Amino acid sequence: MTFNLPRLGRLQRKVLLAASTIVLLPMLAAGWFASEWVSTNFENRLEQWVTEAARANLNWLQAYQNDAVMLGRVLSDDPVYRQRLNEQPEEAIPQSVRRIAQELGINLVQVYTPDLRLVYSSLPIEMGTLWEPGQTEAVLKVTRRNRSMIAAIGITPVPRQGAPRYYLVLGSVLGQDFTKELEQLTGMQTRLYLRQGKRYLDFFSADGGAARPLPALPAEALERLEKGKKPWYGTHAEDGQYRGVYTPIVDSSGHVEAIMFSGLERRGVQEFLTNRLTMFLSITLIGLVLGALTGLLLSRLVLRPLGYLRDGVLQLGGQNFNASVPIDTDDELGDLAKAFNAMAARLREARDEQARRFQRDKLAALGELSASLAHEIRNPLGVINASAALLDRPDQDEARRAQLARMIREESQRVSNLVQDFLHLSRPRQPALAAIDPAAPLERALELALAGRAPVKVTKKFRHGGARIQGDVALLQQAWGNILGNALQAMDGREPELLLESLVENGAVWLAVEDNGPGIAVEIMPRLFEPFFTTKDQGTGLGLSIAHALVEANGGRLEAVPPVGKGARFRMRFPLIEETQR
Ligand code: ADP
Repeated sequence: MTFNLPRLGRLQRKVLLAASTIVLLPMLAAGWFASEWVSTNFENRLEQWVTEAARANLNWLQAYQNDAVMLGRVLSDDPVYRQRLNEQPEEAIPQSVRRIAQELGINLVQVYTPDLRLVYSSLPIEMGTLWEPGQTEAVLKVTRRNRSMIAAIGITPVPRQGAPRYYLVLGSVLGQDFTKELEQLTGMQTRLYLRQGKRYLDFFSADGGAARPLPALPAEALERLEKGKKPWYGTHAEDGQYRGVYTPIVDSSGHVEAIMFSGLERRGVQEFLTNRLTMFLSITLIGLVLGALTGLLLSRLVLRPLGYLRDGVLQLGGQNFNASVPIDTDDELGDLAKAFNAMAARLREARDEQARRFQRDKLAALGELSASLAHEIRNPLGVINASAALLDRPDQDEARRAQLARMIREESQRVSNLVQDFLHLSRPRQPALAAIDPAAPLERALELALAGRAPVKVTKKFRHGGARIQGDVALLQQAWGNILGNALQAMDGREPELLLESLVENGAVWLAVEDNGPGIAVEIMPRLFEPFFTTKDQGTGLGLSIAHALVEANGGRLEAVPPVGKGARFRMRFPLIEETQR
């Protein structure tokens, strides 16, 4: 199965990143401090708890011994008992005292001679190693029916003052149930390692097999337990499986008889709460997820409407005025959407209005053009009509007839020229573009215009070097022809002078022609390129309009610009071809 992440916009990605960073960084810091604080705190609490529980375990064990010692002293101080002990050691303990002993959990009564010979034992047990004279209490390994057990005993000399005649040993023989009992009491794993020579062994774990030895402890731990006789707490006790405390059990002569272990297994919640790295990673992960969720929520609330707005604006930019934004929330984005939709509606109206006005203007222009054309044609037609009528009259002599026929020819030629020009304007020929020297059409048109005329002073200042443009020489020559024709007409009756210039400027080349005629009045400037606009009696007003259309068709621009001298100056501008396009 493939999982497709939703495609995120650029803004969405930024918001997501920002939100994640904003949440993640504090989360990292919080995660670090929290893991540090919780784990340290929790570890300390655990240590306290385990240490307390271990102390309770030790007290429990010592309670047996204390009771035994106390009861031993009571008996030893009783003269009647001392007397009976001499006579019948096995019957020494009176019935009433036995009951008290039972209540106190004392189930072992033994009587020894001063040379430590057993005279009486209430239970058939064997002592592994014996206590030493002078000791008042001990924890010893005993065997009962081949099973290892522990005896917590109190030892009292009888009598207590002077040389003892007997040793009275009272105590409790404890089986595995004892450690189970402690486990239930404190909720902690409890093990008792009893000293055997230099080693400590847990006989309860033996169960027929070999007793488990005390796991290897660090040197300083053993030093603290055996020399310092103080408990030692380890976070990786019992070969790393437990977190617990080892407590030395010291007898009255200062020997460490046993080491009791009480501990909690390392697992579950405690492990999580004390493991900094996992906790830190978990909190960071939660931060990341929260950051991502915040980002997604933000993007849904803000970025999606923004996306709608962007689409709307793009559609408007692409001239689709039917665009609208589907947001109707009661907030700033909703206001923006309403404003956008209203703007789109206004643009729609404006576009419709513009189309209507364009249609109107087109019709008006057509009417104007038709009127001008009709006007231009009506004059020569009138002359032709009148001349033809005169030709019909018999009183005309030959010379008059010849004059009338010439007038008819001239006027019909004028109409023909007019129609030709008009056709040029309305349907200009498609230019055949080629890379050309921009001055070439001008030079040719000049040559043609000056042919057969009185000499004209021509000054050329061409500074376009080898620059080339895309153009149709014939069409541009025609445009220059119209401009030069006007110039020559304007200079009639003066010393005619023409100035031809060119220059390359900002990736374009311009060429200008200036005459020394009367120039163009400012007020007629705006109408110069209008079809049929003329100030001449015999003018058609089409020359400049046609030139304008031809230059545009060649990708250039024609304009009347302020002259250097006093006459009229017309300028054409063309984009240059790039070096690589040639
Ligand atoms: P026409 O020459 O038939 O009048 P054009 O379109 O060629 O039509 O010119 C329009 C008008 O522009 C002219 O009637 C004239 O008033 C003005 N004009 C054009 N060229 C010049 C020029 N070189 N000097 C002065 N006026 C000019």
